[in-house]
Amino acid sequence: MIRLDKLLSDMGAGTRNTLKKEIRKGKVMVNGVVEKNPGAIIDETTARILFDSKEVVYQKHWYFMMHKPAGTLCISDCALSVLNLIKEPYKGLFCVGRLDKDTEGLLLITNDGHLSHELLAPKKHVNKVYEVHLDSPITQSAITMLEQGVSEGGDQFEAAKVEVLQEQCVLLTIHEGKYHQVKRMFSAVGNHVRYLKRIQMKNLVLDDSLAPGEYRELTPAELADLQA
Ligand code: URA
Repeated sequence: MIRLDKLLSDMGAGTRNTLKKEIRKGKVMVNGVVEKNPGAIIDETTARILFDSKEVVYQKHWYFMMHKPAGTLCISDCALSVLNLIKEPYKGLFCVGRLDKDTEGLLLITNDGHLSHELLAPKKHVNKVYEVHLDSPITQSAITMLEQGVSEGGDQFEAAKVEVLQEQCVLLTIHEGKYHQVKRMFSAVGNHVRYLKRIQMKNLVLDDSLAPGEYRELTPAELADLQA
């Protein structure tokens, strides 16, 4: 159950103050009847709501897969925020975890704090897979070190999985999310990350039809897998 003005505001129909005025003017119908009380309590799971004769479909949580482009930041309310690329006016969206400004790839954007916690909490050990392009060819000793765990700048990074695609390009799977982790892990083994792209988080794989800056809603199957 939710207040009518909040429901409309959550769905991006306007600010609470504007909506209160519009509702009082009689512009909103609930289940076929004009509702002029902004504080009317609505059953969001069953109500059919029309605002200015257009249907407003309520959805509590939103889940977008974004192909984060380089040059954007995973924080809100700034000119470079990747959230500015989302055209839908839903309130409360945020990035699940952070990628560096120059990192591209898979980013989950949602307003579901519970799922975010499940994916980010260190003890959940959720795998993240990165495509890593290196300045120098990867060596066997570097692979061995990465697979045993390395330390850098006072942080210990746990064992990672390394899959060599080319001598200067590997897939790295980690289950932690420490600051600049991938770059620092390669620095610890004497290499340097030239380009970084996240391609997977848990079982959610970046849709390769999405160009950098493009996004789409998760499919029900993708969401169910993430929540499992
Ligand atoms: N590790 C990094 O170094 N940078 C990222 O953006 C993500 C993981």
